[in-house]
Amino acid sequence: MSDCYDYEECMPLEERERRQTLQIMKMLDAGLQRSSRIRKMFTELKLDYSDIKTLSDFEKLPVTSREKLIELEMSEPPYGGLNNTDADVDRIFISPGPVYEPHLSESYHLWARAYYAAGIGKGDVVLNAFSYHMVAAGLTFHGGLRNVGATVIPSGTSSSQLQVELIRDLAVTAYTGTPSFLMAIISKAEEMGYNFKKDFKVRRACFAAEPLAPSLREKFEREYAIDTYQMYGATEVGDVSFECKEKKGWHVCEEVLVEIVDPATGKKVPPGMLGEVVVTRFNNTFFLFRFGTGDLSRLIASPCMCGRTSFRLDGIAGRVGDAVKVRGLFVAPSQLNKIKENFDGIKFQLLIGRVAHEDILIIKLELKEAVLDTKSLEEDLKRFFKEICTVRIDRLEFLKPGSLKDDDRLIVDQREWK
Ligand SMILES: [Zn+2]
Repeated sequence: MSDCYDYEECMPLEERERRQTLQIMKMLDAGLQRSSRIRKMFTELKLDYSDIKTLSDFEKLPVTSREKLIELEMSEPPYGGLNNTDADVDRIFISPGPVYEPHLSESYHLWARAYYAAGIGKGDVVLNAFSYHMVAAGLTFHGGLRNVGATVIPSGTSSSQLQVELIRDLAVTAYTGTPSFLMAIISKAEEMGYNFKKDFKVRRACFAAEPLAPSLREKFEREYAIDTYQMYGATEVGDVSFECKEKKGWHVCEEVLVEIVDPATGKKVPPGMLGEVVVTRFNNTFFLFRFGTGDLSRLIASPCMCGRTSFRLDGIAGRVGDAVKVRGLFVAPSQLNKIKENFDGIKFQLLIGRVAHEDILIIKLELKEAVLDTKSLEEDLKRFFKEICTVRIDRLEFLKPGSLKDDDRLIVDQREWK
């Protein structure tokens, strides 16, 4: 049985693609009519509206990074000419840069899908510990919580002691904010003499704006009985994806088009391959097409047990600048950490070299204890590496204990491009 927020979350894939194409066409049409920047962009690219008919045609438009957006807004304040001059804007958010964002209409479902998937709704009293000051976070998460019927305490970035008092006095059932702030609140409660699990009612937490370390997630769930969920978005484009109860990837929201692209070309890569997360939010206020988040991820295209049919993002593997490209595929440090976590007592370093115009991948491996069956360890490691990074290891070399230091780099790129 599915537990979708609405029909859109569970619609057939072909229908979603049809709708996304229509939404993009509608937004392009509006952008060309209302935005000076979009008209200029089309002229510069020698493109006509009729040149874009499919989602693949959409790749003809450039990816706009945050840096580029700041540049555009500085050259033509406040919105770089990307806004609909006729739109009724109820508030303007400011994020570092500065970047000015006209807020999307109140009727948008921002973050509601995420809270719904986490099981938050009527009867919940939620502590919203995202900042309400200038930035979009506090108010937009607030709107999402209200949309699913929860009561919100706009505690923002108040001190952890005050947050503990609110949790106690108002019988808070859920938390939304960063994972590290929740941990700080729990520690403060313990310092104040409370037993967080027994004395309080917080049973759910929805996190964003910061990665959730698996060890911290386990601590929240096991020690404090808090069911945790991850949400992902960007201030420029709103909510992008969210975790369902299966907790195996983040479902892409229905109001955005997510493309995973090769940052060098801006062209899409197939599902399963790592690339930059590029987002377009369907709307009639701010015509920001193909926003490059700088985050690396890959798409999971297989169906999810929860019943939602949308593709999922496989977490965030790092930032574009931290990853290296090997045989046309990205390998990020976070992927290697994931591999390490799955094998007890190993340390390794990935060496990338080039022989006869081909990349070669060598794992230098150090075992903390003697392992009898190194052959099967080697096979397991190679298989798991291929699964996580989608590229194959060419060679595995065993090192003497003590060869790798804790601060040694995980990836060493020795290729010379002559
Ligand atoms: Zn799901």
